[in-house]
Order: sequence, then C-alpha cells, then structure tokens
Amino acid sequence: MSATLRSTTDLIAAEDAHTSGLYTKRTVVLVRGDGATVFDSEGRAYVDCVGGQGTANLGHGNVAVADAIAQQARTLASCTELFYNDRRAELYEVLAGILPAALDRVFLCNSGAEAVEGALKFARAATKRTGIVAAMRGFHGKTMGALSATWGPEYRDLFGPLVPGFSHVPFNKPEALDAAITADTAAFIFELVQGEGGVRPATREFANEAARLCAERGALLIVDEVQTGFGRTGTLFAYEQYEILPDLLCLAKSIAGGMPMGAIAFSRKVGELTKRSHSSTFGGNPLACAAAIAAIGELRRLDLARNARERGAQLIAGLRAIRSNRIREVRGLGLLVGVELKENAAGALRALQDEGVLALGAGPTVVRFLPPLVITETEIDRVLAASRKALE
Ligand SMILES: *Cc1c(COP(=O)(O)O)cnc(C)c1O
Repeated sequence: MSATLRSTTDLIAAEDAHTSGLYTKRTVVLVRGDGATVFDSEGRAYVDCVGGQGTANLGHGNVAVADAIAQQARTLASCTELFYNDRRAELYEVLAGILPAALDRVFLCNSGAEAVEGALKFARAATKRTGIVAAMRGFHGKTMGALSATWGPEYRDLFGPLVPGFSHVPFNKPEALDAAITADTAAFIFELVQGEGGVRPATREFANEAARLCAERGALLIVDEVQTGFGRTGTLFAYEQYEILPDLLCLAKSIAGGMPMGAIAFSRKVGELTKRSHSSTFGGNPLACAAAIAAIGELRRLDLARNARERGAQLIAGLRAIRSNRIREVRGLGLLVGVELKENAAGALRALQDEGVLALGAGPTVVRFLPPLVITETEIDRVLAASRKALE
C-alpha cells in the first residue's frame, strides 16, 4: 500500500499501535521536504526549524547527496574496516582537509552517542585514568557511557547505577574547574553551545580555563560538536570561534547530509589504540562515507556557515525586537537559537506550529530554532512573523 494513499489518522494509528512509546509526538505526518520547508500528509507546508534535530543542515532533498547515496548503493554499500575502501579513504582525506592538522586521526561510527562513547573510552585507555568531568546541563547522548556524561536527571534517574567515575561541574563557572580536573581525570567533556540544555553558549573564559587545566594536569579535552558542527554556529566548527583546540572532537548529526553517521577526530595525544579494543560494524561504511563526502562538499560549495551567520543574525535581531513580557532572553550562535520564556515552552511551540513553523524545545522553558542552513531571508521573515503571533 502506498503511504500517500493512506489517511493521516490511519498513519498515526499505525505508528501508535507499534511505537516504543518513548517519544512524545506531534500529530503531524511529515512526508516530504524541500530545502528548509517540509510538507505534511495533508499538503500543508511548514518552515522547518527542527531540521531533523540538527541532522538536516544541508536542507531536505539535496540532489548531490541523494545522487551520491543512490550511486554508492548500486556500487558497494557494505565494506567493514576489515578491508580498505575507496570512498572511506576519500572521506578521511576530506575530513583531514577541514579539521586542524593536529586532529589527523578519525574513528567512524553511526551516531552522536556512539561518538561520545568512543571518545570516553579512548580517553580512559590513553590516560590510564578513570575520571570524567562533564558540565551541568550538558547533553552527550543516552547510551550508558554517554548518559553518564549527560546531566539531565530526567534521562538518568531510571537507569542507575551509571558508569562510575563521572562528575559534573557548573557550566560557565571557570572557577569550579580547578577542583574538578585533577591527576585522576581522564577527560573533560563539554559542548561549546549547550543544545538540549537550553541553547547556552560557553564563555571564552570557561572554554579557555578547561583547556588550560586539561593540558596542565594531563587530562584530555573532549569537545562535543555533535550539534554545533558542520556550519551550524556560523563557522564550520564552533571551536573556530574559541581559542581552544580539542584533543578529541565528537561529530555526528549533519556529518553525512542526513544519513546516520558519527565520527571522533583525535590527536596524537591519544597515542596508539590497542587493536580490536573498540570497533563498529557499520562504522565507515561506503554508503555513509559517500553521503558525507557529498554533504561536506555541498556545505562548502554553498558556503552554508556564512548563511548560518547571516540568517542567524537576522533571526536573533528579529526575535530580540519582539516586545513580550513572556520572553526572558534570546540567545544563540549562528542558526542555533533559543528563546527562553518565563513559562513552559509547549504552548509557544504549539502556537508556532499553528502558524506554519516547526520549532524544538530545549529544556522546559526554551524554544529552540534549528533550521536547515539553506534557510532563506524570506523564510526567516516568516519565522519571525509567526513568532510575533505566538509570543506576543
Ligand atoms: C544529539 C546529541 C548527541 C547524541 O546524538 P545521537 O545521534 O542522538 O546519539 C550527543 N551530543 C550532542 C551535543 C547532541 O546534540
């Protein structure tokens, strides 16, 4: 049966009958996308400020990525790292070309949590220490190791005991780092803009102090750019806007133009990893590699980091101009933008949707805009008009 012939209520009932029940879903069935616009099963168009939760930086329906995937699927989709592969070799070179020279080794995997999981393991193996320090309100994924670095009690509480050795320091309090990062610390892990935790950019002082203490005390610096990477914040990577250099850099979400993929780029400080101590069957598969090569090519050809900078500035300025005593603060970097409300964000998200704009929450009181970086000036104007109605 063709999905387009089934009614919206029928499709929703089919999912509801079999879903895990873990997700809170909005009653919209999305069936198609084009650039920064998505269409539902009733033919209604929305400006997509959810952006696949950060996986759709390139926009929907990018032809170069679609062609690369189709071509590679016909040629060779599966090839584990038991062998060498032409597409994987090419992707390693592409990544080396956009990353700092010091981060010249890469482990390929399939998701953000898996990238974090691997980075934590590499840090423990390299330093022979067990302590991991993370930041309050940080989000690093939901597998047991990544979850141990994630802060939110709503994610953690049902699943203890978590991995031992993890502690959390207040975000953006550089003075708290000195007591936390010690001779037992394998790594400090943090986001340069906390995404799920409420769209909070790290201060330069906090990032610098973390990097300084890690270097001084022999701990490794893990920067989680799963959400901030690939143009999102107005530069290819957010660390470019800081004065720090990570020892391990976690990537995923938009790395492969919407195909599932994650990566850890890491420096020689990590040392030689013991053969077979870590691996991933799907990691570095030619299909995802082909998608990533095309996606990174398009990101650069279209200079989407620059569009993120310009459209992000337009969005932030427009949101700040809204006079509403429901708004506490507008903040962000590039096209990772949050509006913190003095109330629960659910009502505003619903009102935005009614106005034809899909947006995300980030914690209970923040409305987050995470659109594809191809979003146009006119589409941002539409988002602002909807926001004025939803928030005034
Ligand atoms: C989304 C996210 C993750 C987890 O990625 P998954 O692919 O969902 O496992 C980790 N870190 C950050 C900063 C994220 O935004």
